[in-house]
Amino acid sequence: MTDITFVTDRDQHEHEFHQAVREVIESIQPVLDKNPHYRREAVLERIVEPERVILFRVPWVDDQGQVRVNRGFRVQMNSAIGPYKGGLRFHPSVNLSILKFLAFEQVFKNALTSLPMGGGKGGSDFNPKGKSDNEVMRFCQSFMSELFRHIGPNTDVPAGDIGVGAREIGYLFGTYKKLAHEFTGVLTGKSLNWGGSLIRPEATGYGCTYFAAEMLSTRNETLEGKSCLVSGSGNVAQYTIEKLLDLGAKPVTFSDSSGYVYDPAGLDRDKLNHIMRLKNIQRGRVEQYVEQYPEATFTPVDPALDYNPLWNHRADCAFPSATQNEINAKDAQNLINNGIQVVAEGANMPTTPEGVNIFLEYRILYGPGKAANAGGVSVSGLEMAQNSMRINWPKEEVDNRLKGIMKNIHRMCKETADQYGRPGNYVMGANIAGFTKVVDSMLDQGV
Ligand code: GLU
Repeated sequence: MTDITFVTDRDQHEHEFHQAVREVIESIQPVLDKNPHYRREAVLERIVEPERVILFRVPWVDDQGQVRVNRGFRVQMNSAIGPYKGGLRFHPSVNLSILKFLAFEQVFKNALTSLPMGGGKGGSDFNPKGKSDNEVMRFCQSFMSELFRHIGPNTDVPAGDIGVGAREIGYLFGTYKKLAHEFTGVLTGKSLNWGGSLIRPEATGYGCTYFAAEMLSTRNETLEGKSCLVSGSGNVAQYTIEKLLDLGAKPVTFSDSSGYVYDPAGLDRDKLNHIMRLKNIQRGRVEQYVEQYPEATFTPVDPALDYNPLWNHRADCAFPSATQNEINAKDAQNLINNGIQVVAEGANMPTTPEGVNIFLEYRILYGPGKAANAGGVSVSGLEMAQNSMRINWPKEEVDNRLKGIMKNIHRMCKETADQYGRPGNYVMGANIAGFTKVVDSMLDQGV
Protein backbone atom coordinates (compact mmCIF):
# COMPACT_ATOMS: atom_id res chain seq x y z
CA MET A 1 0.00 0.00 0.00
CA THR A 2 1.36 3.43 -0.93
CA ASP A 3 2.07 5.66 2.01
CA ILE A 4 -0.13 8.72 1.55
CA THR A 5 1.44 10.83 4.24
CA PHE A 6 2.63 13.15 1.47
CA VAL A 7 -0.95 14.42 1.41
CA THR A 8 -2.23 13.73 4.94
CA ASP A 9 0.75 15.38 6.66
CA ARG A 10 -0.14 18.60 4.97
CA ASP A 11 -3.36 20.36 6.02
CA GLN A 12 -4.20 17.71 8.61
CA HIS A 13 -7.69 19.05 9.22
CA GLU A 14 -8.80 18.39 5.63
CA HIS A 15 -10.64 15.15 6.49
CA GLU A 16 -13.04 15.03 3.55
CA PHE A 17 -10.23 15.70 1.09
CA HIS A 18 -8.02 13.01 2.61
CA GLN A 19 -10.94 10.57 2.56
CA ALA A 20 -11.48 11.12 -1.16
CA VAL A 21 -7.76 10.88 -1.94
CA ARG A 22 -7.30 7.71 0.12
CA GLU A 23 -10.14 5.98 -1.70
CA VAL A 24 -8.65 6.71 -5.11
CA ILE A 25 -5.08 5.86 -4.16
CA GLU A 26 -6.10 2.57 -2.55
CA SER A 27 -7.90 1.38 -5.64
CA ILE A 28 -5.21 2.32 -8.15
CA GLN A 29 -2.44 0.25 -6.53
CA PRO A 30 -2.39 -2.33 -9.37
CA VAL A 31 -1.97 0.49 -11.90
CA LEU A 32 0.97 1.94 -9.98
CA ASP A 33 2.57 -1.50 -9.79
CA LYS A 34 2.15 -2.01 -13.53
CA ASN A 35 3.50 1.45 -14.43
CA PRO A 36 6.73 2.16 -12.53
CA HIS A 37 7.18 5.43 -14.43
CA TYR A 38 4.14 6.86 -12.60
CA ARG A 39 6.14 6.87 -9.35
CA ARG A 40 9.19 8.36 -11.04
CA GLU A 41 7.00 11.08 -12.47
CA ALA A 42 5.44 11.71 -9.01
CA VAL A 43 1.96 11.56 -10.52
CA LEU A 44 0.26 11.06 -7.14
CA GLU A 45 2.02 14.02 -5.59
CA ARG A 46 1.05 16.12 -8.59
CA ILE A 47 -2.56 15.02 -8.86
CA VAL A 48 -3.47 15.82 -5.23
CA GLU A 49 -2.19 19.40 -5.44
CA PRO A 50 -4.69 21.84 -6.97
CA GLU A 51 -3.28 23.81 -9.90
CA ARG A 52 -4.67 26.90 -8.22
CA VAL A 53 -6.89 27.88 -5.28
CA ILE A 54 -8.65 31.23 -5.20
CA LEU A 55 -9.95 32.43 -1.85
CA PHE A 56 -11.75 35.74 -1.54
CA ARG A 57 -13.89 37.98 0.64
CA VAL A 58 -17.58 38.32 -0.28
CA PRO A 59 -19.16 41.36 1.43
CA TRP A 60 -22.88 42.01 0.88
CA VAL A 61 -25.68 44.01 2.47
CA ASP A 62 -28.70 42.23 4.02
CA ASP A 63 -32.29 43.52 3.93
CA GLN A 64 -31.79 45.35 7.24
CA GLY A 65 -28.85 47.32 5.84
CA GLN A 66 -26.32 45.30 7.82
CA VAL A 67 -23.08 44.43 6.03
CA ARG A 68 -22.34 40.70 6.06
CA VAL A 69 -19.15 38.93 5.02
CA ASN A 70 -18.76 35.41 3.63
CA ARG A 71 -15.85 33.50 2.18
CA GLY A 72 -15.68 32.65 -1.53
CA PHE A 73 -13.57 29.86 -3.07
CA ARG A 74 -12.67 28.35 -6.40
CA VAL A 75 -10.45 25.28 -6.49
CA GLN A 76 -8.98 24.86 -9.99
CA MET A 77 -7.84 21.29 -9.52
CA ASN A 78 -6.75 19.87 -12.86
CA SER A 79 -6.87 21.09 -16.47
CA ALA A 80 -5.12 18.15 -18.17
CA ILE A 81 -8.08 17.28 -20.39
CA GLY A 82 -9.98 20.55 -20.68
CA PRO A 83 -10.97 23.79 -18.95
CA TYR A 84 -11.73 23.46 -15.22
CA LYS A 85 -15.35 22.37 -14.85
CA GLY A 86 -17.47 21.82 -11.76
CA GLY A 87 -20.19 23.30 -9.62
CA LEU A 88 -20.47 26.01 -7.01
CA ARG A 89 -21.84 25.04 -3.59
CA PHE A 90 -23.42 27.60 -1.25
CA HIS A 91 -23.81 25.98 2.18
CA PRO A 92 -22.65 26.91 5.68
CA SER A 93 -20.49 23.76 5.83
CA VAL A 94 -18.36 24.86 2.85
CA ASN A 95 -14.62 25.04 3.55
CA LEU A 96 -11.44 24.26 1.67
CA SER A 97 -11.42 20.57 2.65
CA ILE A 98 -14.91 20.02 1.25
CA LEU A 99 -14.19 21.91 -1.95
CA LYS A 100 -10.86 20.13 -2.49
CA PHE A 101 -12.57 16.75 -2.07
CA LEU A 102 -15.32 17.78 -4.49
CA ALA A 103 -12.82 19.18 -7.02
CA PHE A 104 -10.69 16.02 -6.74
CA GLU A 105 -13.71 13.77 -7.39
CA GLN A 106 -14.78 16.05 -10.22
CA VAL A 107 -11.47 15.53 -12.07
CA PHE A 108 -12.05 11.77 -12.39
CA LYS A 109 -15.80 12.09 -12.93
CA ASN A 110 -15.27 14.50 -15.81
CA ALA A 111 -12.62 12.23 -17.32
CA LEU A 112 -15.15 9.36 -17.32
CA THR A 113 -17.69 11.38 -19.33
CA SER A 114 -15.34 11.32 -22.36
CA LEU A 115 -15.99 15.05 -22.84
CA PRO A 116 -13.09 17.53 -22.78
CA MET A 117 -13.45 18.89 -19.23
CA GLY A 118 -10.90 19.32 -16.46
CA GLY A 119 -12.01 19.48 -12.83
CA GLY A 120 -12.76 22.26 -10.36
CA LYS A 121 -15.21 23.22 -7.65
CA GLY A 122 -16.07 26.37 -5.78
CA GLY A 123 -18.58 28.03 -3.56
CA SER A 124 -19.13 29.83 -0.31
CA ASP A 125 -20.15 29.31 3.30
CA PHE A 126 -23.14 31.58 2.51
CA ASN A 127 -26.46 29.98 3.51
CA PRO A 128 -29.23 30.79 1.00
CA LYS A 129 -31.83 29.22 3.31
CA GLY A 130 -34.13 31.86 4.74
CA LYS A 131 -32.63 34.67 2.64
CA SER A 132 -34.81 36.89 0.45
CA ASP A 133 -34.40 36.88 -3.33
CA ASN A 134 -32.79 40.30 -3.10
CA GLU A 135 -30.28 39.14 -0.52
CA VAL A 136 -29.38 36.13 -2.67
CA MET A 137 -29.00 38.46 -5.67
CA ARG A 138 -26.72 40.88 -3.82
CA PHE A 139 -24.63 37.99 -2.53
CA CYS A 140 -24.28 36.46 -6.02
CA GLN A 141 -23.32 39.84 -7.50
CA SER A 142 -20.62 40.34 -4.90
CA PHE A 143 -19.36 36.74 -5.31
CA MET A 144 -19.09 37.11 -9.09
CA SER A 145 -17.50 40.56 -8.90
CA GLU A 146 -14.33 38.75 -7.76
CA LEU A 147 -14.76 35.35 -9.43
CA PHE A 148 -15.28 36.74 -12.95
CA ARG A 149 -11.58 37.52 -13.46
CA HIS A 150 -10.62 33.87 -12.83
CA ILE A 151 -13.14 32.10 -15.12
CA GLY A 152 -14.14 32.07 -18.79
CA PRO A 153 -15.59 29.70 -21.40
CA ASN A 154 -12.11 28.36 -22.23
CA THR A 155 -10.64 28.67 -18.72
CA ASP A 156 -13.07 27.58 -16.04
CA VAL A 157 -16.81 26.94 -16.39
CA PRO A 158 -18.72 26.77 -13.07
CA ALA A 159 -22.25 25.40 -12.63
CA GLY A 160 -24.62 24.67 -9.75
CA ASP A 161 -24.35 22.29 -6.80
CA ILE A 162 -26.04 22.32 -3.37
CA GLY A 163 -27.61 25.77 -2.79
CA VAL A 164 -26.94 26.96 -6.33
CA GLY A 165 -29.83 26.45 -8.75
CA ALA A 166 -31.39 28.31 -11.67
CA ARG A 167 -31.99 31.47 -9.61
CA GLU A 168 -28.37 31.78 -8.46
CA ILE A 169 -26.95 30.88 -11.90
CA GLY A 170 -29.09 33.71 -13.34
CA TYR A 171 -27.75 36.34 -10.92
CA LEU A 172 -24.17 35.09 -11.35
CA PHE A 173 -24.46 35.13 -15.15
CA GLY A 174 -25.95 38.64 -15.19
CA THR A 175 -22.98 39.95 -13.22
CA TYR A 176 -20.38 38.08 -15.30
CA LYS A 177 -21.89 39.43 -18.53
CA LYS A 178 -21.67 43.00 -17.28
CA LEU A 179 -18.13 42.77 -15.95
CA ALA A 180 -16.59 40.74 -18.76
CA HIS A 181 -18.64 42.58 -21.40
CA GLU A 182 -19.40 39.37 -23.28
CA PHE A 183 -22.23 36.86 -23.66
CA THR A 184 -20.62 33.42 -23.51
CA GLY A 185 -21.16 29.96 -22.10
CA VAL A 186 -19.15 30.75 -18.98
CA LEU A 187 -21.61 29.01 -16.68
CA THR A 188 -23.74 25.92 -17.26
CA GLY A 189 -27.17 25.22 -15.84
CA LYS A 190 -28.41 28.42 -17.49
CA SER A 191 -32.11 28.94 -18.18
CA LEU A 192 -33.36 27.76 -21.56
CA ASN A 193 -34.14 31.27 -22.83
CA TRP A 194 -30.55 32.42 -22.52
CA GLY A 195 -28.26 29.58 -23.50
CA GLY A 196 -29.22 26.68 -21.25
CA SER A 197 -29.62 23.11 -22.43
CA LEU A 198 -32.75 20.99 -22.33
CA ILE A 199 -32.42 18.12 -19.83
CA ARG A 200 -29.69 19.90 -17.77
CA PRO A 201 -31.90 20.18 -14.63
CA GLU A 202 -32.92 16.54 -15.03
CA ALA A 203 -29.49 15.22 -15.99
CA THR A 204 -27.97 14.07 -12.68
CA GLY A 205 -31.11 12.26 -11.53
CA TYR A 206 -31.89 10.74 -14.94
CA GLY A 207 -28.26 9.73 -15.41
CA CYS A 208 -28.07 8.08 -11.99
CA THR A 209 -31.20 6.08 -12.75
CA TYR A 210 -29.81 5.03 -16.15
CA PHE A 211 -26.62 3.93 -14.39
CA ALA A 212 -28.61 1.84 -11.89
CA ALA A 213 -30.53 0.25 -14.79
CA GLU A 214 -27.24 -0.60 -16.51
CA MET A 215 -25.88 -2.23 -13.35
CA LEU A 216 -29.08 -4.25 -12.98
CA SER A 217 -28.91 -5.37 -16.61
CA THR A 218 -25.66 -7.23 -15.82
CA ARG A 219 -27.84 -9.51 -13.67
CA ASN A 220 -30.64 -9.61 -16.27
CA GLU A 221 -32.86 -7.42 -14.11
CA THR A 222 -34.65 -4.08 -14.53
CA LEU A 223 -35.91 -1.31 -12.24
CA GLU A 224 -39.52 -2.26 -12.88
CA GLY A 225 -41.37 -2.94 -9.62
CA LYS A 226 -38.28 -2.25 -7.48
CA SER A 227 -38.86 -0.30 -4.27
CA CYS A 228 -36.39 2.56 -3.92
CA LEU A 229 -35.11 4.68 -1.03
CA VAL A 230 -34.17 8.19 -2.17
CA SER A 231 -32.60 10.77 0.14
CA GLY A 232 -32.58 14.52 -0.53
CA SER A 233 -35.33 16.57 -2.16
CA GLY A 234 -33.36 18.92 -4.40
CA ASN A 235 -32.75 18.73 -8.09
CA VAL A 236 -30.98 15.34 -8.03
CA ALA A 237 -33.56 13.59 -5.85
CA GLN A 238 -36.54 15.07 -7.74
CA TYR A 239 -35.42 13.88 -11.17
CA THR A 240 -34.23 10.53 -9.83
CA ILE A 241 -37.78 10.01 -8.56
CA GLU A 242 -39.22 11.16 -11.91
CA LYS A 243 -37.10 8.71 -13.93
CA LEU A 244 -37.75 5.89 -11.46
CA LEU A 245 -41.48 6.45 -12.01
CA ASP A 246 -40.93 6.43 -15.82
CA LEU A 247 -39.20 3.08 -15.51
CA GLY A 248 -41.91 1.52 -13.32
CA ALA A 249 -40.02 1.58 -10.01
CA LYS A 250 -41.53 2.52 -6.65
CA PRO A 251 -39.75 5.38 -4.83
CA VAL A 252 -40.88 5.56 -1.18
CA THR A 253 -38.72 8.16 0.60
CA PHE A 254 -37.19 11.65 0.28
CA SER A 255 -35.64 14.00 2.83
CA ASP A 256 -34.11 17.33 3.79
CA SER A 257 -31.84 18.42 6.62
CA SER A 258 -34.70 18.30 9.13
CA GLY A 259 -35.82 14.71 8.51
CA TYR A 260 -37.35 12.30 6.00
CA VAL A 261 -40.72 11.31 4.59
CA TYR A 262 -41.72 7.67 4.09
CA ASP A 263 -44.71 7.07 1.86
CA PRO A 264 -45.38 3.31 1.94
CA ALA A 265 -47.84 3.50 -0.99
CA GLY A 266 -45.04 4.88 -3.17
CA LEU A 267 -44.76 8.27 -4.86
CA ASP A 268 -46.57 9.05 -8.11
CA ARG A 269 -46.54 11.99 -10.57
CA ASP A 270 -49.04 14.07 -8.57
CA LYS A 271 -47.09 13.55 -5.37
CA LEU A 272 -43.82 14.42 -7.13
CA ASN A 273 -45.36 17.60 -8.57
CA HIS A 274 -46.45 18.49 -5.07
CA ILE A 275 -42.89 17.98 -3.76
CA MET A 276 -41.49 20.10 -6.60
CA ARG A 277 -43.92 22.96 -5.90
CA LEU A 278 -43.16 22.73 -2.20
CA LYS A 279 -39.39 22.81 -2.66
CA ASN A 280 -38.81 24.87 -5.80
CA ILE A 281 -41.55 27.50 -5.58
CA GLN A 282 -42.51 27.76 -1.91
CA ARG A 283 -38.95 26.87 -0.76
CA GLY A 284 -40.64 24.88 2.03
CA ARG A 285 -39.69 21.79 4.06
CA VAL A 286 -40.42 18.13 3.29
CA GLU A 287 -42.36 17.84 6.54
CA GLN A 288 -45.21 19.82 4.90
CA TYR A 289 -45.81 16.88 2.51
CA VAL A 290 -47.69 14.91 5.18
CA GLU A 291 -50.29 17.71 5.50
CA GLN A 292 -51.41 16.81 1.96
CA TYR A 293 -50.72 13.05 2.15
CA PRO A 294 -51.42 11.95 5.77
CA GLU A 295 -50.80 8.27 4.93
CA ALA A 296 -47.09 9.19 4.77
CA THR A 297 -44.93 9.69 7.86
CA PHE A 298 -42.33 12.34 8.62
CA THR A 299 -39.44 11.35 10.91
CA PRO A 300 -37.37 14.25 12.22
CA VAL A 301 -33.59 13.96 12.46
CA ASP A 302 -32.64 12.55 15.87
CA PRO A 303 -29.07 13.62 16.72
CA ALA A 304 -28.92 10.91 19.42
CA LEU A 305 -29.10 8.14 16.78
CA ASP A 306 -25.88 6.83 15.23
CA TYR A 307 -27.73 5.76 12.05
CA ASN A 308 -30.30 7.28 9.69
CA PRO A 309 -33.66 5.47 9.87
CA LEU A 310 -34.32 6.39 6.21
CA TRP A 311 -31.87 3.60 5.25
CA ASN A 312 -33.60 1.11 7.54
CA HIS A 313 -36.63 0.24 5.36
CA ARG A 314 -37.00 -2.86 3.28
CA ALA A 315 -36.09 -1.91 -0.32
CA ASP A 316 -34.36 -3.12 -3.47
CA CYS A 317 -32.46 0.04 -4.41
CA ALA A 318 -31.02 3.11 -2.68
CA PHE A 319 -30.28 6.46 -4.27
CA PRO A 320 -28.41 8.67 -1.76
CA SER A 321 -28.92 12.13 -3.29
CA ALA A 322 -28.39 14.52 -0.38
CA THR A 323 -24.76 15.09 0.63
CA GLN A 324 -21.37 13.59 1.58
CA ASN A 325 -21.07 10.86 4.25
CA GLU A 326 -24.83 10.40 4.65
CA ILE A 327 -24.48 6.57 4.78
CA ASN A 328 -22.21 5.26 7.54
CA ALA A 329 -21.25 1.66 8.31
CA LYS A 330 -24.39 1.09 10.36
CA ASP A 331 -26.62 2.48 7.59
CA ALA A 332 -24.82 0.31 5.03
CA GLN A 333 -25.36 -2.77 7.22
CA ASN A 334 -29.03 -1.83 7.71
CA LEU A 335 -29.46 -1.57 3.93
CA ILE A 336 -27.87 -5.00 3.47
CA ASN A 337 -30.07 -6.51 6.21
CA ASN A 338 -33.10 -5.05 4.42
CA GLY A 339 -32.22 -6.81 1.17
CA ILE A 340 -30.71 -3.95 -0.85
CA GLN A 341 -29.43 -4.97 -4.30
CA VAL A 342 -28.42 -1.64 -5.80
CA VAL A 343 -26.88 1.56 -4.43
CA ALA A 344 -26.43 4.32 -7.02
CA GLU A 345 -24.94 7.53 -5.65
CA GLY A 346 -26.59 10.75 -6.84
CA ALA A 347 -24.63 12.78 -4.27
CA ASN A 348 -20.85 13.11 -4.15
CA MET A 349 -19.18 10.64 -1.72
CA PRO A 350 -22.39 9.96 0.24
CA THR A 351 -21.00 6.72 1.71
CA THR A 352 -18.20 6.60 4.29
CA PRO A 353 -15.22 4.31 3.51
CA GLU A 354 -16.46 1.76 6.09
CA GLY A 355 -19.88 1.80 4.39
CA VAL A 356 -18.31 1.30 0.95
CA ASN A 357 -16.37 -1.71 2.24
CA ILE A 358 -19.60 -3.31 3.44
CA PHE A 359 -21.23 -2.85 0.01
CA LEU A 360 -18.19 -4.35 -1.70
CA GLU A 361 -17.99 -7.23 0.75
CA TYR A 362 -21.63 -8.18 0.09
CA ARG A 363 -21.12 -7.75 -3.68
CA ILE A 364 -24.22 -5.65 -4.21
CA LEU A 365 -24.37 -3.45 -7.31
CA TYR A 366 -22.69 -0.34 -5.92
CA GLY A 367 -22.23 2.64 -8.28
CA PRO A 368 -19.93 5.28 -6.73
CA GLY A 369 -20.86 8.93 -7.24
CA LYS A 370 -18.08 9.78 -9.63
CA ALA A 371 -19.57 7.30 -12.09
CA ALA A 372 -23.28 7.20 -11.17
CA ASN A 373 -23.84 10.96 -10.88
CA ALA A 374 -21.72 12.00 -13.86
CA GLY A 375 -24.86 12.72 -15.90
CA GLY A 376 -25.12 16.26 -14.54
CA VAL A 377 -21.69 17.40 -15.60
CA SER A 378 -22.08 15.45 -18.85
CA VAL A 379 -25.05 17.54 -19.89
CA SER A 380 -23.09 20.61 -18.73
CA GLY A 381 -20.47 19.50 -21.28
CA LEU A 382 -23.24 19.22 -23.88
CA GLU A 383 -24.44 22.71 -22.90
CA MET A 384 -20.90 24.02 -23.54
CA ALA A 385 -20.87 22.30 -26.94
CA GLN A 386 -24.24 23.81 -27.91
CA ASN A 387 -23.10 27.26 -26.74
CA SER A 388 -19.94 27.14 -28.86
CA MET A 389 -21.95 26.08 -31.90
CA ARG A 390 -24.65 28.66 -31.11
CA ILE A 391 -27.43 26.09 -31.45
CA ASN A 392 -29.88 24.24 -29.19
CA TRP A 393 -30.42 20.53 -29.49
CA PRO A 394 -33.93 19.13 -28.99
CA LYS A 395 -34.78 17.22 -25.83
CA GLU A 396 -34.53 13.75 -27.41
CA GLU A 397 -31.08 14.52 -28.76
CA VAL A 398 -29.72 15.59 -25.35
CA ASP A 399 -31.42 12.72 -23.53
CA ASN A 400 -30.09 10.17 -26.03
CA ARG A 401 -26.59 11.56 -25.70
CA LEU A 402 -26.92 11.42 -21.90
CA LYS A 403 -28.07 7.80 -22.08
CA GLY A 404 -25.16 6.96 -24.38
CA ILE A 405 -22.65 8.63 -22.03
CA MET A 406 -24.00 6.80 -18.94
CA LYS A 407 -23.92 3.47 -20.80
CA ASN A 408 -20.37 4.18 -21.86
CA ILE A 409 -19.26 5.11 -18.32
CA HIS A 410 -20.85 1.92 -17.02
CA ARG A 411 -19.13 -0.18 -19.68
CA MET A 412 -15.76 1.48 -19.02
CA CYS A 413 -16.00 0.90 -15.24
CA LYS A 414 -17.12 -2.68 -15.69
CA GLU A 415 -14.46 -3.58 -18.26
CA THR A 416 -11.69 -1.93 -16.26
CA ALA A 417 -12.72 -3.81 -13.12
CA ASP A 418 -12.79 -7.08 -15.11
CA GLN A 419 -9.39 -6.33 -16.60
CA TYR A 420 -7.88 -5.88 -13.14
CA GLY A 421 -9.43 -9.08 -11.81
CA ARG A 422 -12.11 -7.43 -9.66
CA PRO A 423 -15.36 -8.08 -11.58
CA GLY A 424 -18.32 -6.04 -10.36
CA ASN A 425 -16.14 -3.59 -8.41
CA TYR A 426 -17.28 -0.28 -9.90
CA VAL A 427 -15.21 1.70 -7.38
CA MET A 428 -12.02 0.25 -8.73
CA GLY A 429 -13.23 0.45 -12.33
CA ALA A 430 -14.17 4.15 -12.05
CA ASN A 431 -11.03 5.16 -10.20
CA ILE A 432 -8.63 3.33 -12.50
CA ALA A 433 -10.33 4.44 -15.73
CA GLY A 434 -10.52 8.09 -14.61
CA PHE A 435 -7.04 8.15 -13.11
CA THR A 436 -5.18 6.70 -16.10
CA LYS A 437 -6.86 9.08 -18.53
CA VAL A 438 -5.99 12.15 -16.47
CA VAL A 439 -2.47 11.05 -15.55
CA ASP A 440 -1.52 10.03 -19.09
CA SER A 441 -2.76 13.42 -20.34
CA MET A 442 -0.66 15.19 -17.69
CA LEU A 443 2.41 13.21 -18.67
CA ASP A 444 1.87 14.03 -22.36
CA GLN A 445 2.03 17.70 -21.41
CA GLY A 446 5.31 17.49 -19.48
CA VAL A 447 6.22 18.56 -15.97
N1 GLU B 1 -22.30 19.86 -9.25
C1 GLU B 1 -22.44 18.84 -10.23
C2 GLU B 1 -21.47 17.70 -9.95
O1 GLU B 1 -21.16 17.45 -8.81
C3 GLU B 1 -22.40 19.37 -11.65
C4 GLU B 1 -21.17 20.13 -12.04
C5 GLU B 1 -21.25 20.79 -13.42
O2 GLU B 1 -22.25 20.65 -14.10
O3 GLU B 1 -20.27 21.44 -13.77
O4 GLU B 1 -21.02 16.99 -10.82
